[in-house]
Amino acid sequence: MTERTPPVHASLPQFPISGGELVVGGERLSLLAARVGQTPFYAYDRGHLRQRVAELRAALPRSVKLHYAMKANPMPAVVGLMAGLVDGIDVASAGELKVALDAGADPREVSFAGPGKREIELQQAVASRVLINVESMREVTLLDGISQRLGLPARVAVRVNPDFELKGSGMKMGGGPKQFGVDVEAMPELLAAVGRAGLSFEGFHLFAGSQNLRAESICEAQQKSYALAVRLAQDAPAPVRFLNLGGGFGIPYFPGEQRLDLQPIGDNLAALAAQASAELPEAAFVIELGRYLVGEAGIYVARVIDRKVSRGQVFLVTDGGLHHHLSASGNFGQVVRKNYPVTIGNKADAALREPASVVGPLCTPLDLLADRMDLPAAVEGDLVVVFQSGAYGASASPHGFLGHPPCVEVLV
Ligand SMILES: *Cc1c(COP(=O)(O)O)cnc(C)c1O
Repeated sequence: MTERTPPVHASLPQFPISGGELVVGGERLSLLAARVGQTPFYAYDRGHLRQRVAELRAALPRSVKLHYAMKANPMPAVVGLMAGLVDGIDVASAGELKVALDAGADPREVSFAGPGKREIELQQAVASRVLINVESMREVTLLDGISQRLGLPARVAVRVNPDFELKGSGMKMGGGPKQFGVDVEAMPELLAAVGRAGLSFEGFHLFAGSQNLRAESICEAQQKSYALAVRLAQDAPAPVRFLNLGGGFGIPYFPGEQRLDLQPIGDNLAALAAQASAELPEAAFVIELGRYLVGEAGIYVARVIDRKVSRGQVFLVTDGGLHHHLSASGNFGQVVRKNYPVTIGNKADAALREPASVVGPLCTPLDLLADRMDLPAAVEGDLVVVFQSGAYGASASPHGFLGHPPCVEVLV
């Protein structure tokens, strides 16, 4: 069945149209492509990134620290820009840690989470004086030895696997059996070990899930996380200084999805912060966001290299595909494949439209960027644009698959 999707530009005001072309970072798309010198490429819009952070700052209480979870988009130029806009950077490997520190992030406001941290990574994190979100007893033991060897007590927060889930999340990362964090039930024993090891205990980290568009669910998870942290603080070896309440703020990808309402979340955090001034007086709240900060600021651009009609269906074959943009192909965590918003960027307001599928050059039917969408009628040489591509794009895709050239990323 052909699924007709409405034109997308009305809902994507971050990219205006001028002379029939999409404008990205103040430049017409065809000129931007000429400047980049090749397709495919990703372009991230600085102005939009700044605006998004400003909107969040306006909606959240001033006391809440805003962190950027850089796994959403680790391009060094993006991390550099974000480091100057937010309060801290969350990393999930020593490789990301290097990019964050190179970008000038303040180590006091960098935190390192992730299961399976290698010993060398823990050592690098201790020596960097960043906060390590401990996820197992093994990490406590290793950090004890490293701290003694370096003469520098590791700064640790404990990542908690809570006894609840973030309802309505695209991806659940807490609650039930999980490889992330330490089960609530095991916390007293782990906290005692942290105290004995002489690590510098600084707080708790709770991350329930990702891509959530329901403010009530996010508020509920924050309330439960806060209550749990207050309970766990009784067994903690030192006062809680950081309480990372996670994030999970989603962005709309598909027809019918509504933009997340920030106001209730801001109100909820303000109420919790008021409670905390009595119950956890030394604690700063941290919210860590990836996708919400960068997802809508980015587009992926590929050029049509062939236009084929197979049994009445139009296929726009492009030089880009799932090897650069696994998420848009539907193969990065989607249960039922849905189309990302797509247009023909150099004909964005063309009156002539037709149903077409956008595919890549890979020899697999999975290499599909748009499945029978209503698009401006396109020919060879036109530029296909995939919106909402600033998060989990280039770095989350199998570039080596089938040996095609890599894509380029630009911050404009
Ligand atoms: C992936 C991840 C994030 C970022 O998630 P988004 O959905 O991109 O906001 C934040 N914190 C942790 C611990 C993560 O693993």
